[in-house]
Amino acid sequence: METAALHVLVIEDEQPIRRFLRASLTDAGYRVSEATSGTEGLRTAASQPPDLIVLDLGLPDIDGQEIIQRLREWYSAPIIVLSARDQEAQKVLALDHGADDYIAKPFGVGELLARLRVATRHANSLITDNQIVRIGELEIEISARRIRIRGSEVHLTPIEYKLLLTMVKHAGKVLTHRYLLREVWGPQDSQENHYLRVFVAGLRRKLEIDPARPRYILTEQGVGYRFASE
Ligand code: CA
Repeated sequence: METAALHVLVIEDEQPIRRFLRASLTDAGYRVSEATSGTEGLRTAASQPPDLIVLDLGLPDIDGQEIIQRLREWYSAPIIVLSARDQEAQKVLALDHGADDYIAKPFGVGELLARLRVATRHANSLITDNQIVRIGELEIEISARRIRIRGSEVHLTPIEYKLLLTMVKHAGKVLTHRYLLREVWGPQDSQENHYLRVFVAGLRRKLEIDPARPRYILTEQGVGYRFASE
């Protein structure tokens, strides 16, 4: 995908991280602008709306969660949040407020660029090529509802299939427990986390070589799941 023209706004008060982001993103062909506070970030975003925002949750002036909410009143492009590794509640809240994904500090450049690529890819773009999705050794023929893993056909229950397809549509992106429950079971069951655990375990048994060390359905501790994007 052509990323040369994409404009990223980095809102981050820590200079070393800002410098690292500017260098990495510029090298990868993005155009980068920077803001060092929430106030400046909101102002810059409004005056020159970027294609994507990378937002640190811990800013000196305005709480990051509030910034997401204020941006989402008018801004619909991706927001990727920078968070501390063990702040699950903050991550879930950020996603609930409309962030697209998060990346935990400290992070590497490969991880960062992968998140940006996934965030700027259209949600259904994996499922356009002949209605066949291939991720690693998984192959899904959408129209025929046929699934093959490492060359062998796998039979899924209707719920397993719906769950798999929901995750694959957003491959590479974190999906919260609540989002998955709502998409697969409907709004009335959005608190029943154990349904999800049971069906994820079932899918892993059918897809993974070692369900305890999954290659496809990755656990995002305390937040949800992320399906591998390649
Ligand atoms: Ca900070």
